Amino acid sequence: MSSVIRLLPDHVANQIAAGEVVQRPASVVKELLENSVDAGATSIKLVVKDAGKSLIQVIDNGKGMNEVDARVCFERHATSKISSADDLFQLQTKGFRGEALASIAAIAHVELATKTKDADLGTKVVIEGSKITSQTEAVLPDGTSFSVKNLFFNIPARRNFLKSDQVEMRHIVDEFERVALAHPQIQFSLISNGAEMFQLPISNLRQRVVNVFGGKTNEKLVPVCEQTEMVKIDGFVGKPEFAKRSRGEQFFFVNNRYIKSSYLHHAVTAAFEGLLKDGTHPSYFLYLELPAHTIDINIHPTKTEIKFEDEKALYAILRASIKHSLGQFQVAPVLDFQRNPELDLPYEMEGTQSKFPTIAIDPNFNPFESQEKTPSQIFNPFESDLSTKTKSQSFNSGKSSGYSGKPNNYTPSHSHWETLYQGISDAKGDILNAQLFIEKEVEQDKLFHSDQSASAQSQVSFQMQRKYIVQPIKSGLMIIDQRRAHQRILYDEYLRKLSNNFSSSQQLLFPLALYFTPSELALFAHIKDYLYNMGFVFDEVTNEKITISGIPVGILESEVSMIIDDLMSELQEETWDEVEIISHKIALSMAQSLAIKSGTILNKEEQENIINHLFACSESSVSPFGKNIFTVINLDEIDRKFL
Ligand code: ADP
Ligand code: MG
Repeated sequence: MSSVIRLLPDHVANQIAAGEVVQRPASVVKELLENSVDAGATSIKLVVKDAGKSLIQVIDNGKGMNEVDARVCFERHATSKISSADDLFQLQTKGFRGEALASIAAIAHVELATKTKDADLGTKVVIEGSKITSQTEAVLPDGTSFSVKNLFFNIPARRNFLKSDQVEMRHIVDEFERVALAHPQIQFSLISNGAEMFQLPISNLRQRVVNVFGGKTNEKLVPVCEQTEMVKIDGFVGKPEFAKRSRGEQFFFVNNRYIKSSYLHHAVTAAFEGLLKDGTHPSYFLYLELPAHTIDINIHPTKTEIKFEDEKALYAILRASIKHSLGQFQVAPVLDFQRNPELDLPYEMEGTQSKFPTIAIDPNFNPFESQEKTPSQIFNPFESDLSTKTKSQSFNSGKSSGYSGKPNNYTPSHSHWETLYQGISDAKGDILNAQLFIEKEVEQDKLFHSDQSASAQSQVSFQMQRKYIVQPIKSGLMIIDQRRAHQRILYDEYLRKLSNNFSSSQQLLFPLALYFTPSELALFAHIKDYLYNMGFVFDEVTNEKITISGIPVGILESEVSMIIDDLMSELQEETWDEVEIISHKIALSMAQSLAIKSGTILNKEEQENIINHLFACSESSVSPFGKNIFTVINLDEIDRKFL
């Protein structure tokens, strides 16, 4: 048998390698941006068309290449960044594999224009599917420009698997943000379909974070700074109250390279323990510097994972320094040994108005007068006519004082000494009443509008643990999770509004301005019409903020910012496309944001409203998040317990 093993031609090998390096337009963006950073550029411009599907261009003012390198750079394993295996442990650059350009050139039409500072003329190279089609001299500025057109032109299967422009653009912005955040000393800009999305001047770290994520970010940041022999930590964490439901803004950089590490992520969340609302995630922008020989970044083809020599120590240092920062900026509860805990307000009294003690004064009172007083008069110790009625009034300074003495029982006689305490025990009762009153105040009366007053339920429901509505039914007991039931009701309602194309809206007295990052605003453009259908009216959309002048009926102005924030976070997390999915996501997010929480007290009418509305829904047993809404305990089951 003749030999069958052959060496693959270079262009085939490159195409196979490209599969690993270039998964989507964003991969090209990452490689080109990193090459420009490695080339020492101080200004880098990224231009994309159709989310990179038709064009990705990166223009830098870096060191450029001579006419030989301009050709060789497209060869596989062609790199200027390492020359021996030892260099792998002293990496100062982003790239080192020498395969990015070879891979990109194998699956796209690439034009390179480059000039070094000391050359008079630059070089232009055109390469398509790994074949150089032309190389010419040209008058060019210093630096390098790579244009990548028609990505995957020769791999239709790949091209067909690309997601919508919106999704691919999201990935591009992610890569752009990562590189831009790692290098505030470089100016970056991003132009998409002719419109400028980012313009980031050279700045310090804090300004860079703010420029990327919008002006409102500044007030949310708490600086983190720590230096030990092993690691230097710099950067910011977001204040806990601004934590979002998505994990969008979480960045680790190690030696200026964006990395992912679930282990270090855990260290950060551990530092936030007890400070975050359920289901929210803190944002963080953390820059770690470690000696190059103590890390190994060579364990993943796209190089976002990393190995540390002493992971455990790093974990402990990171957690401690974030805890320290949060404490220093007084966002973490700090133990205060000077404080007298007896002065603390009891929990149930929190948020209630304290009442000033009142004293009833009778300006006409004459201590030497002996005639009987009217009930409003205060007790006169010198009075000879100790009419019980008059005196007892003196103890009763009105309900507001808290002590309501029993008017008719007071006599100064020793035999009735117990009655002296009567007012005090009553006062206790008053405090209890006050507690009940406070709880009542928490009730949400806006849940449902009373026009749909509950149809008379044959049996009365009651609330258990402020979490479940218990409704006796013919066959036993039905226990309904109040939050999930409300989520279902709202979800159905919002979905209906979204498909109706028009919902009534209430005009705001003062327009509301909400601030967003450029990438959130790009996302906003896609969902604006849907929100309009729901009843939101948008006045103005600039490149930083949205002004809202009308909101859907039934929503409070104070809830708007939370709703839109949650929605943006949610949508950014996912890759979604279809119209039904957008509507579903909006309805889901709003139902999540606005559904009553466990712990909310519901009055009878509200409980009944929930039950009635729930069973009018198309699906009443499962919440829009796929969880059971209610359970029934049958009479037999109950009977069996009593056997
Ligand atoms: P790597 O970055 O791993 O070295 P690449 O294929 O990305 O491999 O690039 C190959 C080489 O081309 C680089 O080592 C560098 O010398 C050169 N190069 C690439 N992009 C630029 C650029 N923007 N400016 C100057 N030189 C560049
Ligand atoms: Mg590279």
